Amino acid sequence: MSDLLDERTQALIAEFRQRYGAEPTAVASGPGRVNLIGEHTDYNDGFVLPVAIQRDVRYVFRPRTDRLVRIFSMEFGESYEFDLDNLAYNDAMLWTNYVMGVAWSLAEQGLTLTGIDAVMSGNVPRGSGLSSSAALEVSTAQAFLAASGLLGVLDGPTIARVAQRAENEFVGVNCGIMDQFISVLGAENHALLIDCRSLTYELVPMPRDAALVIGNTRASRSLASSAYNERRQECETGVALLRTALPAITALRDVTSAELEQHRDLLPAVVYQRCRHVVSENERVGQMVAALRAGDLVQAGELMNASHESLRVDYAVSSPALDAMVAAMRSVPGCYGARLTGAGFGGCAVALVAPGREKAVADAIFEHYPKATNIWPEVYMTHVSNGAQVVKLEEAK
Ligand code: ADP
Ligand code: MG
Repeated sequence: MSDLLDERTQALIAEFRQRYGAEPTAVASGPGRVNLIGEHTDYNDGFVLPVAIQRDVRYVFRPRTDRLVRIFSMEFGESYEFDLDNLAYNDAMLWTNYVMGVAWSLAEQGLTLTGIDAVMSGNVPRGSGLSSSAALEVSTAQAFLAASGLLGVLDGPTIARVAQRAENEFVGVNCGIMDQFISVLGAENHALLIDCRSLTYELVPMPRDAALVIGNTRASRSLASSAYNERRQECETGVALLRTALPAITALRDVTSAELEQHRDLLPAVVYQRCRHVVSENERVGQMVAALRAGDLVQAGELMNASHESLRVDYAVSSPALDAMVAAMRSVPGCYGARLTGAGFGGCAVALVAPGREKAVADAIFEHYPKATNIWPEVYMTHVSNGAQVVKLEEAK
């Protein structure tokens, strides 16, 4: 039996029956994600290593014979109807734009969708850096494709690009491709190595039952977007200056640590530091892949700690809250390592933890983090999960 047929799905089915007076025919899901290592490398044409988590956005649905879409969001307690032939951005109900955006983006692929009746809900925390938006887009795409008899027509990377396009062009949020990629292509007990230049990818086996604890700082991320733009600019400056000595490079991805040291004099001190983070972080992703393949969780944890230090010191995107979170995580025996994940300043940190030690790490977070920050955190314990799924539901007897 699929793990999709759990109590959460049962609750959605009950809601569906009550709203539409019929049985849903299938359930579709798209998980959230956490990036294990490879931070601020994506826009430098580098490498990232995310995993899918055991939290998802989920649909139960039934195809209609017309072009109407009726959808109820459990979290927002709102229902919405739209016509697939008349998709218009809705200022008043943001969440509906992700749904319409995916329908629009699938149509842009030349696919003809059928309408659906649907009940949707998610337990990926929203706006916390675990990519509830990609989970919503990917589950929406799966629901429409399945309802329209089009499962298997698009390959996984194409579904990811369709979902990303919905967010970029319909919702109007400029996100990269990592989140949608892992939500579609993730696999249980595997991390996904993505080359952000070529978009080639590879599943990397995780040591059996490696556990993750994610701590949500719930701290303000108001600094994040201005710093993000500043960092991108600093990386571009670094590339432009390094090109005077290394004409073949087009991104920091092309620079080794040795080359950076050799040409360090070309760079202002701050730009050098930013570059050192990106270059070393790319190298750490490769080392992490090797450590995971070797089953060496101690080494993997050390690389995560080193990533956090590099983000804190060289890239200057950590914060007192994130530092307090990783300190609390690392205080527990059985925590191999911990780092901030996502753009920084707020959002979440992730710890790699020995199986059975998740609860101890969570307890330590609740004990130490609020004292340091006056903020009550949220903690999510998870193993590495599968990517998007669709499961047919049996007709009720
Ligand atoms: P993140 O992707 O980091 O969680 P975003 O701001 O990119 O944060 O996306 C969050 C938005 O996605 C929410 O504001 C909401 O519009 C939509 N969303 C996410 N989860 C759900 C859900 N379960 N139900 C309805 N909308 C959701
Ligand atoms: Mg998002």
